[in-house]
This record gives sequence, structure tokens and C-alpha cells, in this order.
Amino acid sequence: MADFSGKTALILGGSRGIGAAIVRRFAQAEARVIFTYAGSAEAAERLAAETGARAVQADSADRDALTAAIAAQGPIDMLVINAGTLAIGDPLTLDADAIDRMIDINVRAPYHAAVEAARRMPDGGRIIVIGSTNGDRIPFAGGAAYAMTKSAMQGMVRGLARDFGARGITVNSIQPGPTDSDMNPADGPMAEQMHGFMAVKRHIRPEEVAELTAYIAGPHAAMITGSMQTIDGGFAA
Ligand code: NDP
Repeated sequence: MADFSGKTALILGGSRGIGAAIVRRFAQAEARVIFTYAGSAEAAERLAAETGARAVQADSADRDALTAAIAAQGPIDMLVINAGTLAIGDPLTLDADAIDRMIDINVRAPYHAAVEAARRMPDGGRIIVIGSTNGDRIPFAGGAAYAMTKSAMQGMVRGLARDFGARGITVNSIQPGPTDSDMNPADGPMAEQMHGFMAVKRHIRPEEVAELTAYIAGPHAAMITGSMQTIDGGFAA
């Protein structure tokens, strides 16, 4: 197991689901963990009590609040940008404001957060975004805008890897497939359809995504940068 003692990790969107599994995994590896949340104060408090991590309320859709929350933490060794939302459905009837809010959280916030954290990040730091296999493949109708946000992350990851590489800072995306969470429950209405697209036909566990994230954050991944690390049971194969 990676040893993150002496390192500070900030997980954006850590109160539930994949983000909470990442908070637990980094705390187990002895990192000093801070995580943000938007609305789930109770879940955030419970997780903070369980792990010793610190919870900070900051809505990723509010750029000033987000960048201020990041700046307030001082130097961050590992930034994991997990906060994300999913708006899917018929593009002709989907609410335009919901789409714009998704773009704010899934695209604008990761860019501004990564840049803000990089201002103070020590050499050898890590910036990790939680993208999606849908950045590569969207085999069902209704996912255009969501896929657009996750494809946009790919360009950001490649570009920022070039910007910060001279400092030994790596920038990567973890791209999960269907992962058991409130957003996409393993027993939800879309599960069977999702498993139909996969080679290994089950939901991914949040802990499996967290394990890959810890590897990319760790010392053995120093030469992995500008990359998309897909963990999707073959969804995009
Ligand atoms: P959940 O909806 O289960 O959890 C989302 C987490 O993000 C919560 O902790 C939530 O906090 C936080 N969050 C959402 N919006 C904001 C915001 N505006 N500001 C701060 N925090 C916010 O989602 P998952 O765990 O399933 O997804 C996590 C990431 O993984 C997302 O980026 C998603 O796109 C991606 N992903 C998920 C897949 C899946 O199948 N589950 C597949 C591929 C990618 P709060 O409750 O406090 O609002």
C-alpha cells in the first residue's frame, strides 16, 4: 500500500460514492485528507469522523468559492477532482440550465481547481480528475452533454500535463465505467443495459476506483502523465 504520510490530499466532492472511497483510501495511507462537499453535510460529517479527514463545504459550481477553498489549504500534494453531476435524457427536452450547471461542475471547475492548486503544489505533485469511460464511448442515446464534459477533461489533462511536467507534477484522468453509487446504483434501472456494454458484466466497486487513484497518486506512477486510466470492465473495448 502506498504511504502518503506527510502528504496533503484534497478531494473535491468527497462526501459520497467514489469520492468517499477515495477519502477512505488516502486516509488509510496516512495522508492528511481534506475533502469538499456541496449539499451532503451529514454524510460529510460522518465520513470526517470515521476517517479523521476534514470536510469543507464548497460548491464546485461557484468558481470563487472553489478557488478560495483551495487556496486556503496551502500547498496540496495531491488534488483529486471527483465532484461531478450527470444530466442525461433527450437533448430536445433536457433543461438547458441543468446542462449548463453540469458543464460548470464537470468542466469549468476542474480546470480552475487544477490551476489554483498548481500555484502552490510542490514539485512531484499529483492532479487527478475522475473522468468517465463515456469520454471515449457513449453507446446509448441521451448522454451527449455528459460525454462532452468528460471528453473535455481529456484535453485538459493532456494540456496541463505539458504545462506542469517540468515540475514533476503529473496530470491524469481516471475513467470509470458503471460504478455502484447514488449516481448509478448497481441495482438501478439502467444496470442491465450498462452491463450489456461490458466485457465483465457487473458494476465496478468505488473501492476499485479508489485503488487505481491511489496508485496514480503514488510514487510508482511518476512517469504516468497526460493519460486516461480506464477502469470500466471493458465498456469501451
Ligand atoms: P455521486 O452522485 O454518488 O456522488 C457525487 C459526489 O460529488 C458527492 O460527494 C457530491 O457531494 C459531490 N458533488 C456533486 N456536485 C458537487 C458540487 N457542485 N460541489 C462539490 N461537490 C459536489 O457520484 P459518483 O460517486 O458516482 O461519481 C463521482 C464522479 O465519478 C463523477 O465525476 C462522475 O461523473 C464520475 N463517474 C461516475 C460513474 C458511475 O457510474 N458512478 C462512472 C464514470 C464516472 P454532495 O452530495 O455534498 O453534493
